[in-house]
Amino acid sequence: MSSTSHAVQIPKHGDSSVLAYVPVPKPTPKPDQVLVKVAYAGVNFIDTYQRSGLYPQTLPFIVGREGSGEIVEVGPEVKGDFKVGDRVAFMGPGSYAEYDAVSTLSVAKLPDAVSLEQGAALLLQGLTAWSLVRQAYKVEKGDWVLIHAAAGGVGLLLCQMCKLLGANVIGTTSSEAKAQLAKANGADYIVDYSNGYDELVSKVNELTGNKGVNVVLDGVGASTFDVSLKVVRRLGTVISFGNASGAVPPVNIMRLAEKNIRLMRTTLFQYITTREEFDALSSELLGLVAEGKLQFAIHKVYPIQDVKQAHDDLEGRKTTGKLLLKL
Ligand code: NDP
Repeated sequence: MSSTSHAVQIPKHGDSSVLAYVPVPKPTPKPDQVLVKVAYAGVNFIDTYQRSGLYPQTLPFIVGREGSGEIVEVGPEVKGDFKVGDRVAFMGPGSYAEYDAVSTLSVAKLPDAVSLEQGAALLLQGLTAWSLVRQAYKVEKGDWVLIHAAAGGVGLLLCQMCKLLGANVIGTTSSEAKAQLAKANGADYIVDYSNGYDELVSKVNELTGNKGVNVVLDGVGASTFDVSLKVVRRLGTVISFGNASGAVPPVNIMRLAEKNIRLMRTTLFQYITTREEFDALSSELLGLVAEGKLQFAIHKVYPIQDVKQAHDDLEGRKTTGKLLLKL
């Protein structure tokens, strides 16, 4: 630890009031790490789970799982073509900070055409969405796909990706404004689920001839899990990948036998455990971006001092697309 820097560090788990931008020692990269001067940190729902203690952390804890910036130091054992001055997007712990020392396992050099602002919005939600539709369940042309929270960060990307892959996309959102945005991003049909799920069930039945959807992509969790099982078709797939409304309680697997449902609980990090896996997935994602096939909607760029507001807005269902913090 050489000198002082600043980061959003929490002394204890709790609501957004525990977030504070405070002086911390500047990190020293390990031999296999690079030190990034962070320009933007991406805000993700996982940051709220790690803050609240739903995913407990060793305290004190610097929040944030991704960002973008410039490499200012390269550890002597770093493999690959990384050098001081490279513009990069990265995933790694502690990104709500002026400096972050990260393993190069999940660092991507940014093409000139991609700004640092875009870079901080790309990886975590983009790779999550792409891994869901390419690895967890291979979406095929003509599939019926249900995407919960379709106007969220991951949701808007899933809408675009499923449309690109030729699927019929049904989404859920909690407001008309969110519905319009999800439609502009590729959703064919949107159902407002804020007052219950009856309309969703009847809409899915009407559209699919009472068969149900091939796959449900569910990042909402506790509140939508039951309806996800209800609207999936016989031999269909339900993928639970998040807890925006709370964690899904334990499930009696006999419930799956009713329709021979495949149920998965995925995390992106199990799809990118090696540099090869990360490169394969991220190069496909960056390829889609370079070809102009994927748009990343930035909800708002918050100054780092407004981090509490960013978490309140995300948890309060006030946002669409991606939230960024500017360091
Ligand atoms: P979003 O931008 O999608 O925000 C969450 C959305 O969930 C809200 O905007 C809201 O949309 C909906 N929602 C429904 N019920 C609630 C509730 N009770 N409280 C808050 N929000 C609610 O967030 P992200 O794109 O960052 O993440 C989406 C999901 O994906 C999260 O669950 C996240 O944990 C998960 N995720 C999982 C990963 C993995 O590896 N498994 C990686 C990345 C993300 P509306 O108002 O329209 O209902």
